[in-house]
Formats: sequence, C-alpha cells, structure tokens
Amino acid sequence: MVNSSLMDLDDAIEIARSVPDATRPLPGDALAAAVRAVAGPAGARVSRIGRSGEGRPIELVSFGQGAPSVLAYAYPHPDEPVGGATVLFLAERLAAGDARLARAPVRSWHLIPCVDPDGAARNEGWLEALAERGGAAETILAYGRAGYRPIAPADEVDWSVAEPHPETEALLRALASVRPDAVLPLHDESHAPAPATVGAAPALGKPDLERVLGALRAFGQPVAPDGPCDLEQVAVGEWAVSSFAFAQTANPEARILVTEIAGARVQGLTDPAPAPIDLAALDGWVRALASRILATYVDPARAAAGDGAGAGGAADPRLRRSVEALAARLEAVRDDGYLGPIAGLPAAETYATRAEETEAKRALPALWLARAGMAVRLLGDRDLAARLESDLGRAVRELAPEPIAFGQMVRAQVAAVLAFL
Ligand SMILES: [Zn+2]
Repeated sequence: MVNSSLMDLDDAIEIARSVPDATRPLPGDALAAAVRAVAGPAGARVSRIGRSGEGRPIELVSFGQGAPSVLAYAYPHPDEPVGGATVLFLAERLAAGDARLARAPVRSWHLIPCVDPDGAARNEGWLEALAERGGAAETILAYGRAGYRPIAPADEVDWSVAEPHPETEALLRALASVRPDAVLPLHDESHAPAPATVGAAPALGKPDLERVLGALRAFGQPVAPDGPCDLEQVAVGEWAVSSFAFAQTANPEARILVTEIAGARVQGLTDPAPAPIDLAALDGWVRALASRILATYVDPARAAAGDGAGAGGAADPRLRRSVEALAARLEAVRDDGYLGPIAGLPAAETYATRAEETEAKRALPALWLARAGMAVRLLGDRDLAARLESDLGRAVRELAPEPIAFGQMVRAQVAAVLAFL
C-alpha cells in the first residue's frame, strides 16, 4: 500500500514548477510518440495494451518494478488534454532520473499517454486555442466549432466497464496486470467553465485533502466551494460499472484520485455567499435554457440524423451517439429540473449561492452551447453554425473567463497527483 503523506508537499510543488511555460496540449498520436521517445532510451518498457475501435494503438509505458505502483492515464475524456501533458512531463522527469521525484513513495510508474485515441483525434481542432489562451472565451468558441465529447456513458472509458469498448478493455487489462496501489485518471475542465474539483476513493482524510488542495491553490486553481467529493458517493448507481471500482477489485488497497483541473477563473463561480435569487427561480431559468438549446440546435440535428439527412458528421457514429445523449440530458433538465428536489427544503435553504447562480446563469449557457456545436456539425447547416457562433459568443462574453495558461494547468495537476502519493 502507498503510505499517504510521504511525498513532501514542497517537493511536489517544486517539481511541478519545472513544467515548462511552452508546454502545449498534444493530440493522442503525437503524445504517445513523444512519451515513447523519452521513455525508450531510458530503459522504460513500452507495451501495447490494445487497439482503439478505429485501430489506433493504445500503449502503456512502465518505469521501475514492483510495489508501490502508480498507474496514470490521460484522455479518459478525449476533450481533456491536460493529463496528456502531465504524463509526458512525468515520463521526462523519470527518464532524467529526477532525484526529487525519486523521493516519491513509488517503485513503479505506469503511464498510458492516451486511452481514447479515436476521441482525441476528433478534438485536434481546438487545441491550438487552448495552447494560446488557456480556458479563455476564444478557447470555448474554438471548442464549440471543433470539440467532441462522449456524452453517452457507453462511450466514456471510465464508465463503460459493463459493456466495454476496445479502449475500456485496454484500460482494464492494464489495471488487472499492474494492480496499481494508486490510480490517477487524469480528467480536467480545460474548456468547461468550472472550478477545480477533487474526487477520491476512498475519500481523502483531512490532512491528505489539505495537501492536494494546497497543491492546486499553489498554482492558482479556483477550487469548488463544496470542496472534495467522495467518488463512490457521486457515482452512486454507476460506481459498479466504473473503472475505479474495477481498479479496487484488481487491488483492494487501490487509492484513486481524480483532479479536475480548471482552465479559467470565473468571478462568482466559487463564491458560497447567498445570491438574490431562490433555487426554484434559478431552476426554472436553467430548464428554460435547456429547452431553448434543445429546440434551436439539438432537436433539428437529431431529426436530420434520424432521417439520414445530416450533411456534416452524420456518418460518424460516435458523434451521433453524443448528440443523442446530449438531447437526453437536456430533456431531463427541461422536464425534471437541474437542481434536484427543491420542494420541502426549509425556507432558509431555498436561496441559491452566488456559485450556483453563476453556474446556472453564466457557465451552463457557455458549456451547453459549446456542446451543441456537435449537433451543428452533425447537421452540417451553415446558417445554424452562424447562429451558434453568435449565441456562444454572447454567452462567453457574459461569462468573462480569466484564462489560466496551459502550462499552469499542467503544473497544478502534477503537483496535486504528487501530493496524493
Ligand atoms: Zn473528464
């Protein structure tokens, strides 16, 4: 078992500081090649753990032998490129024999540079904007034009253990053979206007949590006001089909840390003070938003794809499934509400916080409109694309995200995962 609190927090922060300013997000194939290029000459083992649905290789790169072991995997969602840069940085430091990193309580490091190369290949079009401007308005606009997100759980590598695609099978094979003591699914929020969050299983005790949050704050990450989450609690009902549960079956001692790195700071998004609006009114506002995006963008695309009439990406089954799943999610919000059960709350608890108001009124419009870009591409309709550009442009102006440089996102993730070890 990995003993907690053995890697000194100052060491973790110091190592993370050496992530170069010029760090850029890399597409999956370029990333795997870069990791191989630094790992091979250093004597690391490179093994192919599978092939994607479209035939791309999925590789595992291993440094050292034995326990305690760490397995980190990047691109668990293929629109989250921060972890790829984290993996490449760790591979470079391990290959260089970094003496501070050698003080981590780890005997073997196992790195998957890109677990969903097909999905990552669909996201290359907006990475330039992320490299240049972090999670700024321009990045969200570029994501709206070119981002791909697997929204159906069956297409999400971490949530499809029950009916695994080849990508999930590759990950499960690696988890079963390495039986890692620490598992690091490298998620992020680089394009989504959301604060950083930390999820762990088992839940982190206070000192470990403070170390991880301290590492995030050292690199300017805005941290969610409701703090950390217990992965098993938030994934209730889905836990059994998660790769996290599988990791704990392979090794009952396995500790898992998800660090959702933020790409921007948004005023109000982490403010726990009460807002001048109650939850029911806010919920009504979000339901109307979902209804509008459905009617304007998602339903026309879905109808055309159903008729086989979509011009653009209709031939891409993953894009079609994502648009279907986006529609189902927006319908659930429209029909059942976003904020959960509100009726029956005592009056004192019916006021929304500033963070909830900011999320509902400024972050969700930008996020959902950016995701609606998939529907517009599925439909291939230029007028609708122009309308989305204008709607999303207005939403990101109101959001006014203050970007975090890409290298700084990577530093925060590196520091947080090292602080966890
Ligand atoms: Zn994710």
